[in-house]
Amino acid sequence: MTNAEATADFESKKAEPKSVSLTWDLDSLFPGGAGGASFSAFRRELKSMIEQADTQLNKLPKTLNGDSAATWEEFVLLVQGIAARLEQGGAFAGCLISASVSDALAGQAHGEINDLRGLFLKSMTGFEALTADASDAEWNSFVERPALKPVAFPLNEMRKEAQIKMSPELEALTEELAVNGYHAWDHLYTKMAGELTVQWEENGETSEISLGQLATKFNNADREIRAKAFAKLTEAWKSRESLAAMALNNQAGFRLTLYERRGWKSPTDEPLRMNRMTRATVDAMWSAVNECKPKLAQYLDAKKKLLGIDGFRWYDESAPIGSSSAEFSWDEAWDFVIKNVGDFSPDMKTFCEMARDKRWVEGEDRPDKAGGGFCTSFPLNKESRIFMTFGNTYGDLSTLAHELGHAYHSHVLKDRDFFATQYPMNLAETASTFNELLIIDAALKQSSDKQEKLMLLDQKMQSALTFFCNIQTRFIFDETFYAARAKGALTSQELGELMTNAQRKAYGDLLADDGLHPLFWAAKLHFFFTDVPFYNFPYTFGFLFATGVYAHAQKQGSSFAQSYSAMLADTGSMMAEEVAQKHLGVDLTKVDFWRSAVNGALEGLDEFVELAKG
Ligand SMILES: [Zn+2]
Repeated sequence: MTNAEATADFESKKAEPKSVSLTWDLDSLFPGGAGGASFSAFRRELKSMIEQADTQLNKLPKTLNGDSAATWEEFVLLVQGIAARLEQGGAFAGCLISASVSDALAGQAHGEINDLRGLFLKSMTGFEALTADASDAEWNSFVERPALKPVAFPLNEMRKEAQIKMSPELEALTEELAVNGYHAWDHLYTKMAGELTVQWEENGETSEISLGQLATKFNNADREIRAKAFAKLTEAWKSRESLAAMALNNQAGFRLTLYERRGWKSPTDEPLRMNRMTRATVDAMWSAVNECKPKLAQYLDAKKKLLGIDGFRWYDESAPIGSSSAEFSWDEAWDFVIKNVGDFSPDMKTFCEMARDKRWVEGEDRPDKAGGGFCTSFPLNKESRIFMTFGNTYGDLSTLAHELGHAYHSHVLKDRDFFATQYPMNLAETASTFNELLIIDAALKQSSDKQEKLMLLDQKMQSALTFFCNIQTRFIFDETFYAARAKGALTSQELGELMTNAQRKAYGDLLADDGLHPLFWAAKLHFFFTDVPFYNFPYTFGFLFATGVYAHAQKQGSSFAQSYSAMLADTGSMMAEEVAQKHLGVDLTKVDFWRSAVNGALEGLDEFVELAKG
């Protein structure tokens, strides 16, 4: 080796970037973990702030007017600070637990923060009742005060909600009774589902497996295995259907009685308000979805051909198509994501580089870690952390992009006041899905392998099938079930009929007659959630809103990047319809936007059909 070569070699080594850390940095948030002095002091301070809020509330003048407005404002700013700290503390304990499930101190801290949240919510209920009684004129000038104006939207929302509830005493009693009389049905169901097992025979061996383990069999390429898994699932739920029916009937009965007492007309009113959207929007969305079902049939016909089957059954939905041998190192995954989000938005590129360099992401594959992936934010530090386990596949790369989307969403909100950073569930997946779309399109462009293309396109179409048909089934079921339940409890037989009717409506002839899933109402835990009513349809909204924004971005090119981040920044302080009108110039209550969103979601369908022919 000549000197020059040696120098060149040395230079190239020097220029080679350090590899990206696989573990995250939590110490810069609170050094020393759950037992560290810093996090302990933080919890003590939080507790004393909550006590202070309770004292302040007791002394707060009951009537809002020119004299009391300043004291009221002080109270609002105090509780906003507490809410931000509760999020910060919960996020930190949550990160510690996920990174090491055996961290008992973190578990304890998490419980402590939950208890503090309970205490805090009690104080808030008292304040909400006071706002309900304030005169409109006084209230309107109150939320115009400079310190409150940025959070006027969530404050108005809180007051309106308090105004349509029963008296504070009755609401407090209801909340207390709900612990054992409402949420308990959900807990009972969850426990029952968790304890259900089936006997599974494979390769000559029989073992007892949980329903969670059984669910993975639906991704199996062998149809016999999927069919057997479905038979086992049906058999398991058949043995518990009367108990599941009891849980579902009773919790729905509780909710309907409460709505009646509050004078709330429709069971969809509450979920619509929670998602800051109107019924007209939901209807427009579903009609665009319904229009595309013949197009979806072309996808399923092609998929049936590839799978070598005649009728498409429920258990064929996740059947894998194509394959990819592509592997990505952690560094390559980061480079791929940064390059492709960067092509759309330089700001997103800078942000992702910062998240990488500051070690905001945990990706190591090691024991004692929790499963799954998430992104959580630390409002006091204006930072986020992402948790996942990286396994070198395309799916993992997509997860990284997805979670970085969430982190970017928090990033553009970081300078807003805390109450204005709380976006609803239906807008929560905008930035994450947007990133996934950027990444899958880039992967498709780059790929020359037919099997890999088929796999990627099938993933895209499978999402559409899930959001358009599977989730729509749940919405139709929820609506028809609540209408029927208002007249009386339903038998498991009747619930099964409602479910198959919902499936026929949502899927049309996409599913074979013998391919329905009558016990889906019992097998899907989402129907039993008591914290969030009608849990499912906001997901279709979120998915289509993101594909619609993505279609818009493709038309506008990178000039849209700035409007995109401005749009995300407004997600915590207006109605979904207003966000879309202001930043995209579209009316969500009309079908046009949803049509373009549906078309965006189905982009690649024709190519899939073509590839399936060859
Ligand atoms: Zn997400």
